[in-house]
Amino acid sequence: MTTSNELIEFQYRVMTAKPNMCLFGNLDCKKTAIKAHSLQNSTIFELLSSDGHVITIGISRDENHKPISKWKRIGRNLASTFTGLCSTHDNSIFEKIDKNPINIQDKEHLFLLAYRALYKELHANLAAGIQSQMSYLKLVDAGLYPKGEPSPPGLFATAQLANAYRTQLYKDTFDTVYYEKTWKTISHEVYELHDQTPIIGCSQLFSVDYVRFRDSVLRIILNILPITPNSSVAIFSFTEEESTLARDYINSRIFGDGPLLKYQISKIVIENTSNFFINPATFSKWSKKRKMKSSTTLQILYLNSK
Ligand SMILES: [Zn+2]
Repeated sequence: MTTSNELIEFQYRVMTAKPNMCLFGNLDCKKTAIKAHSLQNSTIFELLSSDGHVITIGISRDENHKPISKWKRIGRNLASTFTGLCSTHDNSIFEKIDKNPINIQDKEHLFLLAYRALYKELHANLAAGIQSQMSYLKLVDAGLYPKGEPSPPGLFATAQLANAYRTQLYKDTFDTVYYEKTWKTISHEVYELHDQTPIIGCSQLFSVDYVRFRDSVLRIILNILPITPNSSVAIFSFTEEESTLARDYINSRIFGDGPLLKYQISKIVIENTSNFFINPATFSKWSKKRKMKSSTTLQILYLNSK
């Protein structure tokens, strides 16, 4: 009989289970996946890091083993990495934005930034599916749920896998754009943040669950990148078919300029993303109260903090 301690220990181990495969195209690439960066290391983390590190939010467990979010320091070489692309595809697809400065006038650059966020999200969705399925099977094995009958953890695992499948279908649209080089069919709203020290880097696909699109919900990709020591950009990307809904959403959330614009973008970051990284030099100036609030509520990241 599996004891509760064994189950808890298993839960800790399962949290680190991740797919390790190249997600290019139809998932038929057999090469080994590398630790690919979802945010560019050479420029973006160079601007964001201090002593080779950045700050991010990780998942920890409290004394009752419940998941909690917690700030953590991470080496820039590991930050934002995921094992979802082989070196051949990572290099060949993203060479233009890895070896050149980001040009926000270049539609191919903007597409590639969004495309990379999509790979990262598909990998995260698959990891969630694998982890929930492993947990479910362990609970069945322990005799806590019947085998072959619907149960809450079984239904949860199925929902996670279905979510990964929907992300793969969404990625199909971007795969076609990549193959056909029809960059302009992906739309973008770009906000240039001038007089802005490098504070945050972010790359994330998120859904707007209260806005229906066909038989699913609206999806938007957000990238926030420090470009120079004095400027950053926030880029919202979406498909042509979703562009009216996406622009309605963005315009309802972002309508200020100056500090208000930065605050409104920050709110979208904390409400919708987890793949973001903060400059430790800025973080060290935050008060304890602000660090606590930022990790647990929707209050975070006034991007204009100096
Ligand atoms: Zn590959």
